[in-house]
Amino acid sequence: MQKQRLEGKVALITGAASGIGEETVRLFAENGAYIIVADVQDDLGHQVIASIGSDRITYRHCDVRDENQVEETVNFTLEKHGRIDILFSNAGILGSLSGILDLDLKDFDNTIAINVRGVAATIKHAARAMVAKKIRGSIICTTSVAATLGGTGPHNYTTSKHALLGLVRSTCSELGGYGIRVNSVSPYGVATPLSCKPFNLGPDEVEASTLEYGNLKGVVLKARHIAEAALYLASDESGYVSGHNLVVDGGFTVVNGSFSASYNLFTN
Ligand code: NAD
Repeated sequence: MQKQRLEGKVALITGAASGIGEETVRLFAENGAYIIVADVQDDLGHQVIASIGSDRITYRHCDVRDENQVEETVNFTLEKHGRIDILFSNAGILGSLSGILDLDLKDFDNTIAINVRGVAATIKHAARAMVAKKIRGSIICTTSVAATLGGTGPHNYTTSKHALLGLVRSTCSELGGYGIRVNSVSPYGVATPLSCKPFNLGPDEVEASTLEYGNLKGVVLKARHIAEAALYLASDESGYVSGHNLVVDGGFTVVNGSFSASYNLFTN
């Protein structure tokens, strides 16, 4: 039987009804975790839980823009399971695709409210609970290749993910004093509603595009790859890893192929 890498641990996952969050719920469940699935898509959240069929998983409505809802969700986790070992703060939106000349600042605020302020609220309340119970927990946020590179996402999104990376590093500095680790996973493009819907593309079309522009050939990035990275950061196997942005991008953010392409180097 496969080793249960999260046996008995309690995980709160936001943005858990769809895409990367949903896949992480499935993988964490396979590894023995008790999970609170937090999202604003209630029907979808319940469907995910029903399809897994485990009494260790519970749905909780939580809009991360509302600090009260975040605090209530953490309290609900404590009432139900008595502890919280893992926060996967993953909820996020792409936001508007508009250029800077037409920037809609209301949309800018909303993107920041979810992708940065919302994550800060989850870290605040989950960390408070961990500190109060003296739990050396693991906090994981979902950044993006757009956290370190311009031109790989819309302005609002890129700004929010750069800020989120700063939040991860900053909170890692304070929470290290309590033995709490803070890390992030940083995906390249994955075909989920976030990457398909705004462009009116199907998953196959998004995957064809990520394959074409990606560095690592012959592999399509799937939500499962990101969930595996989150599992590593959540488990005791990463016990001394903190402040790390675990890039899952096949080398995309460290490679600029213009030199090798212009001199026809490394052509197969
Ligand atoms: P997704 O749309 O499938 O999932 C995002 C989830 O977040 C949805 O279930 C949505 O309901 C939830 N959500 C949105 N606003 C919320 C709010 N205010 N409160 C609570 N939940 C909310 O998209 P995904 O691709 O799985 O996105 C997950 C994370 O991965 C996001 O942070 C995203 O920025 C990041 N990411 C995605 C990609 C990609 O290519 N798909 C690449 C890099 C990073």
